[in-house]
Amino acid sequence: MRRTNSETPIPNPQHLLKNQPPTSNPQPLVLLTPGPTPIPPSVLAKLAEPILHHRTVEFGAFFERVIQDLQYVFRTKNTVLLQTTSGTGGMESAVANLLSPGDKTLVATAGAFGNRWGKILKAYGFLPIIQEEEWGSAIDPNRFEALLKTHGKDLKAVYLTHTETSTGVVHPIEVLSRLIHQYSDALVVVDSISGLGGQELKTDEWNLDVVVSASQKGLMNAPGLAFISLSERALQVMEMSKCPRFYWDWRTMKKSVPNKETPYTPSVSLVVAQAEALRLIKEEGIESVWAKTTRLAQWTREELKKLNFPLFPHPPCDVLTSVSVPESVNATELVHRLLKDFRISIADGQEKLKGRIIRIAHMGYIRKEDLQRGFSALQTCLTDTQKK
Ligand code: PMP
Repeated sequence: MRRTNSETPIPNPQHLLKNQPPTSNPQPLVLLTPGPTPIPPSVLAKLAEPILHHRTVEFGAFFERVIQDLQYVFRTKNTVLLQTTSGTGGMESAVANLLSPGDKTLVATAGAFGNRWGKILKAYGFLPIIQEEEWGSAIDPNRFEALLKTHGKDLKAVYLTHTETSTGVVHPIEVLSRLIHQYSDALVVVDSISGLGGQELKTDEWNLDVVVSASQKGLMNAPGLAFISLSERALQVMEMSKCPRFYWDWRTMKKSVPNKETPYTPSVSLVVAQAEALRLIKEEGIESVWAKTTRLAQWTREELKKLNFPLFPHPPCDVLTSVSVPESVNATELVHRLLKDFRISIADGQEKLKGRIIRIAHMGYIRKEDLQRGFSALQTCLTDTQKK
């Protein structure tokens, strides 16, 4: 007998994941990756609502709420822009809008995402000075200060990363920002794509000119939106910058904000869903969200220590934990097996850390019971490895 449409089985989403064969495993997916992260049911429900037109009062109300609530989460009175792109698009726009050919920049990096600033700058023809620290450690303020003493006067912008998702480190953004302002007029530009909404960040108090974030991590939405806060200084520089830009042009985006809209068609459903996710964060209070994330991070580190996984980063951030795997274990195989047999999705190391560390997130809507399921599956995998 032929199946009717309503009987057609919905494909298990696991086969859509890279390198994963289709599975008949009926267990629900537990997403413990450091982005995308799980979404609260009320946010998920918003994504299923009929689409609004983006030049309407109804959409404008959602847009306005999102911008205002982002100011609350960013801890800023600055302008906040919304772009339909993933976080990297937000990063690229922070290069295209702030610089002119020949400008000098500094990148402080200790991982794949810090390095991304360098790659974007080079793609635009800039030759950034790079302070590179060992992966797993944080930017050393003394070396940073020495670079600023030498080059500070010539710098147009300094590009930093808040929580380095590839290693699990938190960089001392408040200290680094103070040093930049002490030695330079350079703009302080921070990637807080995995940090915002989990790791403490105070844009105005820490004098951060530009902060870039995205929807799919601590902000509990699906991937597809980037958010950028811009100080008055950054807005002035943006007006004068000579880099070519069109889709990424913050000047056009800023002009649209008072009309409660974006210059081009935004990802309407994501904006509506973001309004709901931000409502939940506001209801809980950003300080409580930070405190909850810190507690979950501490507990995760203790649980992984009990399983004999040594902590990899120093100092660890609150939004994810990365740990080294024992010599006898291959992290890549472990990550695949957890997904295949237990429907637990965690992350492998990236680039030179592939196969050497695992990364487990505890930000946004990830709850203790989700982590608990992950740890018991990990325990089973380890016991099986020992038996072999
Ligand atoms: N920076 C950091 C710190 C990140 O965690 C990520 C995403 N993992 C990015 C940049 C890139 O963001 P996206 O994948 O959304 O482009």
